[in-house]
Amino acid sequence: MKLYNSLTKRVEEFVPNEEGKVKMYTCGPTVYHFAHIGNLRSYLMEDVLEKLLRYSGYDVTRVMNITDVGHLSSDADTGEDKMLKGAKREHKTVMEIAKYYTDAFFADCAKLNIKTPDVVEPATNCIPEFIHMIEVLLEKGYAYKAGENVYFDTSKLDNYYVFGNQNEEELMVGVRDDVTEDENKRNKNDFVLWFTKSKFEDQALKWDSPWGVGYPGWHIECSCISMKHLGEYMDIHCGGVDNMFPHHTNEIAQSESYIGHKWCNYWFHVHHLNDETGKMSKSKGEFLTVSLLEQKGYDPIVYRLFALQSHYRKPLVFSYEALDQSVQTYKKLKNRISSIEDGGDVDASAVKDWHDKFAEVVGNDVNTAMGLTLVYDVLKADLSGATKRAVIADFDQVLGLRLLDPVTADEHLTDASADTDPELAAHVEAKIAERAAAKKEKNFALADEIRAQLLEEGIVLTDTREGTKWEKK
Ligand code: AMP
Ligand code: ZN
Repeated sequence: MKLYNSLTKRVEEFVPNEEGKVKMYTCGPTVYHFAHIGNLRSYLMEDVLEKLLRYSGYDVTRVMNITDVGHLSSDADTGEDKMLKGAKREHKTVMEIAKYYTDAFFADCAKLNIKTPDVVEPATNCIPEFIHMIEVLLEKGYAYKAGENVYFDTSKLDNYYVFGNQNEEELMVGVRDDVTEDENKRNKNDFVLWFTKSKFEDQALKWDSPWGVGYPGWHIECSCISMKHLGEYMDIHCGGVDNMFPHHTNEIAQSESYIGHKWCNYWFHVHHLNDETGKMSKSKGEFLTVSLLEQKGYDPIVYRLFALQSHYRKPLVFSYEALDQSVQTYKKLKNRISSIEDGGDVDASAVKDWHDKFAEVVGNDVNTAMGLTLVYDVLKADLSGATKRAVIADFDQVLGLRLLDPVTADEHLTDASADTDPELAAHVEAKIAERAAAKKEKNFALADEIRAQLLEEGIVLTDTREGTKWEKK
């Protein structure tokens, strides 16, 4: 399997520390609000990665934290604790908020067919582990106390900016958001390991510590929680691309200073889903959640298809028009699959060959769009109906699109394409899906090329509100 590694900025052959086993960690949600579908793009692609690893034969252990304390409204330790903000907004306690939004998060994940990681651990469960790690960092001289907080001293590291390329704006992270700079910090990107004093005194959750009553910084939780369950050597660490700096940079700084050796080998970062204004936000405009999509009549699994049609390392723009295209693609695909003729035996060796092919194609840096194309290839292939179904069920262990579920009344196709030659239809629909993906990625040249190619084959495409329709010339 090949994976792009943000540390080396290259696609590399994936080699785990221990043969056949993968230790994987995912930064979990801050449970002060619903997750938006941008957050869920990250969890969805991480889910595909996990399933792909299992599909390729690895024994995977995946751990996720739940941030229920310490994540301030700016990633650079300034502003208010997000959990406190949520509690005030809803006149509830922090713990009530945490429970409510943790449950809501996993309910959304279930709707998107995202598997719950093997271990899910809330930060508030691990205070003694955080205190221990901070003590060691102080002993080793990587941390200092100032103004009654404990800070990590980034100047102690030769290579703090492990992901490189931090531009000026990102480096200014410590001094943005119109807040007074923390004068206790020796270096502008030093970060808080433990707060006892901050500009907000009414923090709801506090614990005793050697440095006074207080609460942990955000970054420390991922270092501790991952090591608690996965030990000192990790294979893959995941998160959204915004986590790279400062969050993952700080996780690496404190983890490697604590253990004294390299911690995690592969860093998997999912690029953002943006709305048409350029950024997905919980505060401005329409707050895009799974529930909102459902209210508008979308089956959440269609959003999973929408995400899978693009590569995880490219930004993706959300629009209802693009989602409508995915609705049509999903309907057609399910209708096509449900009309596979019954009969024949399952050809086990053919299933194995297709399995290996899928593992290789999608295993090339999680190429989900190519995985979808393979589904169309199976539909066109010279295989018995039983074999086709078995291969598609096998692929769906990774795709997670419930492709073999019965076609619902809503999904039933009424347009003429349902009656055409199934091979031709599968071919054209694969091309339409490829073109939609190209458009989403703003590769209009490729989109036009696909349209022209089909025209040469005598197929005319028309873009409508309900998606792209096609007919023979
Ligand atoms: P948070 O709950 O804010 O800690 O974010 C949860 C996850 O969603 C993190 O891995 C973020 O990097 C990721 N994330 C945040 N915004 C987006 C977005 N617009 N698209 C994709 N992932 C995102
Ligand atoms: Zn994290």
